[in-house]
Amino acid sequence: MTEHPTPRMLIGGTWTAGSGGATLPVINPATGETLTHLPVATRAEIGAALDAAEAGFRVWRAVPPIERARILAKGARRFRERIDEVAMVITLELGKPLAESRAEVTLAAEHVEWAAQEARRGYGQVIPARDPGVLQYSVLEPVGPVAAFAPWNAPAITPARKLGGALAAGCSVILKPAEEAPSAALILAESLLAAGVPDGALNIVFGDPPLIGRTLAESPRIKGLTFTGSTAVGAELNRLAAPSMVRTTLELGGHAPVIILGDVDVERVARTAIPACLRNSGQVCTSPTRFLVHASVYDQFLDTFVSAVESLKVGDGRDPGTQMGPVATDRRLTALAEMTDDARTRGATVATGGHRLGDTGTFWSPTVLTGVPADARAATVEPFGPLKTVARVDDLDEALAEANRLPFGLASYAWTHDSRAIARITDEMEAGSVAVNSWKPSFPETPFGGFHLSGLGTEGGVEGVRAFQRLKYISRG
Ligand code: NAD
Repeated sequence: MTEHPTPRMLIGGTWTAGSGGATLPVINPATGETLTHLPVATRAEIGAALDAAEAGFRVWRAVPPIERARILAKGARRFRERIDEVAMVITLELGKPLAESRAEVTLAAEHVEWAAQEARRGYGQVIPARDPGVLQYSVLEPVGPVAAFAPWNAPAITPARKLGGALAAGCSVILKPAEEAPSAALILAESLLAAGVPDGALNIVFGDPPLIGRTLAESPRIKGLTFTGSTAVGAELNRLAAPSMVRTTLELGGHAPVIILGDVDVERVARTAIPACLRNSGQVCTSPTRFLVHASVYDQFLDTFVSAVESLKVGDGRDPGTQMGPVATDRRLTALAEMTDDARTRGATVATGGHRLGDTGTFWSPTVLTGVPADARAATVEPFGPLKTVARVDDLDEALAEANRLPFGLASYAWTHDSRAIARITDEMEAGSVAVNSWKPSFPETPFGGFHLSGLGTEGGVEGVRAFQRLKYISRG
């Protein structure tokens, strides 16, 4: 096997191992082994990244959109060409099965490609003037240097979304990938640089997330901020950025409800739910999690779902037969154990799983809880792991009330063929994405964002580029 790449930071077009000497280990969650160490940015290096992003912005915003589009598309192509290498580093750093990592690389490239195409369509408007001989129009401009923060759970897709959108808009970026899984973002950056993204337009720093987060969010030189992660951190960055009126896009957690009514092939729904809800060990913000099943099909659903969960092969993501890997960190393992204990104590039933697997790595048995009371952690906080709850509901009113009970609203799902029920679900669901008879809540070309505590603004779709643009009105007499 080839040696794991050594992460470096990127400041003003120069790759650097950092000057501070401090490093952090990158751990393989399947084995507990240290794969490599990454540099910790000093305050001076964060400052240098800000200088570089300002200089890079002046260069990149002047590149015509058609040329930006060509460069980004070429970068995406180069990234695709390295799929074997990228998929392997994702699996090693995050644990998920290689096939899932390969799918992530392809989707990440598609995100950049979509943004590249959209770069060419930054249309303004001509507004009919009140006076003769006057031309009134609006234009879209890039907002300026952007601070981007990506979490570990989608180490290629999230950086691709943020870099694609911001660069397509003509902004420069300082990206902080997740320290837990840095390498895919670095290979994406290498690909974009090699394709022609100029020095300083794309910078990368790592290290102490609160220090980097605070420094960038508070800097008046940063004009856009995009973060994916927990509601608590997103709210804090938003607060820090508010005095400078920084435009923020926050993609925060969910706790996705799944309404299943009595008129569907419930065994098929239960079987197809497994890859959807246990993909990446359930560590996906859109992961189907709270199953609300009509009483008429509840037992049938639960039996099929639990036996499908129990037949899953859990193991090292490098093994070809593995269907689910470990969770990413000790933090997730602890959170899942606490959540399960809390639910048990409050009277829930552990239908399957509910324990750590082995004592090497961070494997958690895929877990299904039933009878979870509304005040249990599992019923109120997203598990962000392979833990699902199944509840019985008597009608659509009860299902919708339960689906909308939490202050989160990212992805939601529903299975029914009843057109009146579908109309009510799509109308009344308090979520940024509603997938009916489908497990796919987003694509690069569709808008994606959360309601309430799940976030602010939109990634993906046309809006994913607009998020990094500002509108200027011009009148010429
Ligand atoms: P965490 O808050 O410790 O870290 C999440 C990510 O945020 C990491 O990549 C980290 O580097 C970054 N981060 C942390 N503090 C920061 C700061 N002050 N400024 C900038 N970046 C910062 O959380 P965790 O233990 O990894 O996960 C906790 C919860 O976060 C999960 O249970 C889940 O609910 C949520 N989460 C959501 C997503 C998502 O896709 N929306 C992704 C990861 C985690």
